[in-house]
Amino acid sequence: MSATIIDGQKIAEEMTAQIKKESSSLLPKPGLAVIIVGKDPASLLYVKKKEKACQQVAFYSVLIELPEDVSELKLLNQIDALNQNKKIHGILVQLPLPAHINERLVIDSIYPNKDVDGFTPINMGNLLVGDNRLVPSTPRGIMKLIESTGVHISGKHAVVVGRSNIVGKPISLLLQQHGATVTMCHSRTHPLEYYTKQADILVSAVGKPKLISGSMIKKGAVVIDVGINSLNNTLVGDVDFESASTVAGFITPVPKGVGPMTIACLLENTLYAYRQQHL
Ligand code: NAD
Repeated sequence: MSATIIDGQKIAEEMTAQIKKESSSLLPKPGLAVIIVGKDPASLLYVKKKEKACQQVAFYSVLIELPEDVSELKLLNQIDALNQNKKIHGILVQLPLPAHINERLVIDSIYPNKDVDGFTPINMGNLLVGDNRLVPSTPRGIMKLIESTGVHISGKHAVVVGRSNIVGKPISLLLQQHGATVTMCHSRTHPLEYYTKQADILVSAVGKPKLISGSMIKKGAVVIDVGINSLNNTLVGDVDFESASTVAGFITPVPKGVGPMTIACLLENTLYAYRQQHL
C-alpha cells in the first residue's frame, strides 16, 4: 500500500471538540430536530448517530419517529410545528421517504434558515451562485477531507462519479468554486475508467461496491469514497480499497472516512443556523 489514509474519524473528532467548546457557553442550547419515517434499519442507525453526536456537544436534540404509513399532511404539519419552535434551530428529515410522500414537497416546507441539510431550493440556489450558507453536510465534509491532504485543488482535474442532489451535484459545485476543472460521471457514462483515470481528485458517490478499482485510478490521486454498501455483512465503499490504495496518493477508508465528517458538518451547520437565528 502506498496511499496515505485520510482519517475522517480523527478530523471529525477534532471538529466535534471545537463545536463543543464553542457551544458550551451558549444559552439556550442549539437545537436539532430529526424526523424519521418508518423503520429502515440503516436510516435508524444514522439518526441514532446524529442524536448521539448532539449529546456529545450538549445540543438540545429531538428525535421524531413517525410510522411508515404516516400521511404527507401529518408530516408537513410536524415540520410546520418545528419551523415555529424557538428551541429548534435545525430540522432534518431522514431520506428516503416512503413512496406515497412527495419528498420535494416535504423538503421545501422546511424554513431555509433551519434547513441544516442544505437541501431546500433556497440553500441549493445559494450554493449555485457561490453564497455558501447552509451547504449539505456530506459535500462540506468531503472538501475538508481533501483540504486535509494539503493538495491544492485549484487547477486540478476533479472527477465526480454520481450526480445526486445531496452529494454529486453539490460537491461538483464546491470543487469548481475552489478552481478545479470538474467532470461529472453517472450511470450513462461510458467507459467510466476513461474519465476516472484522468482524475487528480476522484470522488465516488454511487452506492456500488468495488465500482472503482486500482486500474481506474491515476497514480497519486486523492480518492474520496462516499459510498456505503453492505458486502458479505461488511461495510464497504464504492472503491476497491485494496487495489486502489496501491495507486492513489491519498484515500478515505470506509468506514471512518466520509461518514463521521457528515455528522460533524451537520453539527457545524446547526451551530451556524443557531447563530443566524440569535443575531
Ligand atoms: P443516489 O442513488 O441518489 O445517486 C447515485 C448516483 O450514482 C446517480 O447519480 C447515478 O447516476 C450514479 N450511478 C449509478 N450507477 C452508476 C455506475 N455504474 N457508474 C457511474 N455512476 C453510476 O445516491 P446518493 O444519495 O448520492 O448516495 C451515493 C452513495 O453514497 C450511497 O452508497 C450512499 O449510501 C452514500 N452516502 C454516504 C454518505 C456519507 O455520509 N458517507 C452520505 C450520503 C450518501
